[in-house]
Parts: sequence; C-alpha cells; structure tokens
Amino acid sequence: MTENSFDTIIIGGGPGGLSAGIYAKRASLSVLLIEKGVLGGQIVNSDEVENYLGYEHIGGAELSMKFSQHAQAYDLDIVSQEVAEIVPGADYHTVKLANGDSYQACSIIMAMGGNPRKLNIPGEDEYYGKGVSYCAVCDGFFFRGKDVMVIGGGDTAAEEALYLSKLANKVYLAHRRDALRASMILQQRIFSECKIEMLWNTIPTEIKAQADGVSSVGLQDTVSGDQREMPVDGAFIFIGFVPNNDLVPAGVKMTAEGYVVTDNKCETSIPGIFAIGDLMEKYARQIITAAADGCTAALAAAHYVEAKKSSEECTL
Ligand code: NAP
Repeated sequence: MTENSFDTIIIGGGPGGLSAGIYAKRASLSVLLIEKGVLGGQIVNSDEVENYLGYEHIGGAELSMKFSQHAQAYDLDIVSQEVAEIVPGADYHTVKLANGDSYQACSIIMAMGGNPRKLNIPGEDEYYGKGVSYCAVCDGFFFRGKDVMVIGGGDTAAEEALYLSKLANKVYLAHRRDALRASMILQQRIFSECKIEMLWNTIPTEIKAQADGVSSVGLQDTVSGDQREMPVDGAFIFIGFVPNNDLVPAGVKMTAEGYVVTDNKCETSIPGIFAIGDLMEKYARQIITAAADGCTAALAAAHYVEAKKSSEECTL
C-alpha cells in the first residue's frame, strides 16, 4: 500500500462522512476523508438542533464541532481539497482531485450531501447576498426589525421562519399549497407565533430590489392566478434540496430526482462504492440517519475490503 492508497476513502465531512470515518477507523481500516469545505456539514448553519439523540437542545455549529472533534480523536486522515472525479475500477477505485493529485482505495464512501433547491425566478441569483438568502442563521441578523418572506412549506422553512420571527418585525411564510408539509410540532409553533403570517397557495414569481437590497417579492395565487407584489426586505428560500451527485460515477443507479440508490448496506450498484446521508435515496433525511448511514457503510466497507483482500482482488 502506498501513501496514496487506502482501504476506504470517504468523500464529504458532514455527519455521515465523519460517522463513517469513526466506524472505519475502529474497524482498523486505513481511511482518508476528503472535504472541500468545513467539516461538520450543513448543520453548521442550523440555529438549534432538538432531535439528535442525547441533546434536547444544541446549536448546529456546536454539534458539528463535536462530530469533527470525535472523528479527529481517531486520527482520521483528512484532506481539504475538492474532488474532481471518481473512477471505478475492477481491482480498486481512484479518486482524482481538482489539484491533480489522485488516491486509490478498495472502497469509496460517497457522502457529498446536497444543496438548497432554487426557485429559478428573476432576481433570485441577482440579489443573492443582497436580501436573498438560503440560511436564516447566517443572514437573519441583518433583518432585525424588518419584514421578510420565507418561501417553502417543509420542516426547514418552518424552522427558519420561527428563527426569523425572533429577529424580524414580520415574517410572511409563502407556501404553494393550503397545508404545510412540516411536522405537526413545527406547524403548531408556526400557527401560534403572531409575527408569522401564512400566505397560502402562493408562489413567488420575481424578486425585486432597490439600491440597498431586496424591496419586494412578486407573488401569484396558485388557485386564482391573481398577481400581487409584497414589499419585504428579505426573501429566504427553503424549498428542499438537490443532491450533490456531480461526482457520482456513470454506472451508479440513481432515482429520477438524482438520489443514489443503495441496498441495505448503503452499497451502490458498483461494488465497493457506497453512498450515505442526503445523497442517497431514503425516507428520512436527518442528522441521525446520516450518522447511522455512515456506520452502516463503514462496517459494510470493512467487510468488503476484507473479502477483496483475502481473495487478492484488491491489489493495493
Ligand atoms: P422538503 O421537506 O422537501 O420541503 C420542501 C418544501 O418546499 C415543500 O413544502 C414543497 O412544497 C416546497 N417546494 C418545493 N419546490 C418548490 C417550488 N419550486 N416552489 C415553491 N415551493 C416549493 O424540504 P426541507 O424542508 O428542506 O426538508 C428536507 C428534509 O430534511 C425533510 O426530510 C425534512 O423532514 C428534514 N428536516 C428535518 C428537520 C427537523 O426534523 N428538525 C429540519 C429540517 C429538515 P410541497 O409541500 O407542495 O411539496
């Protein structure tokens, strides 16, 4: 084994990837984790986490720091670089980095997560950072005492609207249907928060701005088709998630929505390549399920590597 070859390479340092790192190290695998951004994943941006086992309330940044520290306590090798390509092979798989380096491994665990879905309406890209945001915890501070609109009807939109209601003067929550998708407990909180006003059956059509940032959102009633314009200082968009599947190699089965299909060991349709967390097709996308996927994939990868090595099929 050379310094560029490992039993397993994990791509992505969110809760899934870090959990996989811990389990893989404990299974005595040689492991490399590659993360282009900060360790800890998207929860870094969450104000409060209330449903991770063992913590009634914990800040997202604090929980992600605990995850990173836990993984680093196992001397996990971590490279802070961007992956350019995953090349599957019969004997071993190759991970090529954007800087030209490459690594080989018997198994790969893909934990690349995803990104916020965009509305793709005029003004969304143009005024990003000038009143358009995908992160209330990051940007909410700038909207103290102002009027904002949150777009979406799921758990994220509900949580972020509640967070913003602590800062803003008024929060409009625009949802395209007449019922929220968010969990009942969040719905109850939304409906009892007097600063939040629901805009049912409503989709944004355009975000407008003046010199100092967003000034209004154009809206359409999905039932009547009526159009109107709502003056607000900020537009927070939480309409779901798009999996980061750009690196998923050809031959790996995916759903029509772009999620990677795996078996109950988190293994994809290419042997020795695993997918976990928000990237994989599954029922619940939660921190705890990402961490559990990391465990499953690492244990399965350990079994896979052992079998490959004992049959001398992985030649690293
Ligand atoms: P989500 O559950 O997929 O909800 C997306 C919302 O955006 C839906 O209400 C959807 O409307 C709406 N939407 C989608 N495309 C739209 C468009 N083009 N225009 C207008 N509205 C659009 O996404 P999420 O809220 O980000 O949650 C993702 C996952 O993370 C879920 O499994 C969620 O339970 C989980 N999560 C959990 C927690 C927690 O438990 N604390 C917190 C955050 C997220 P429809 O309802 O009409 O489809």
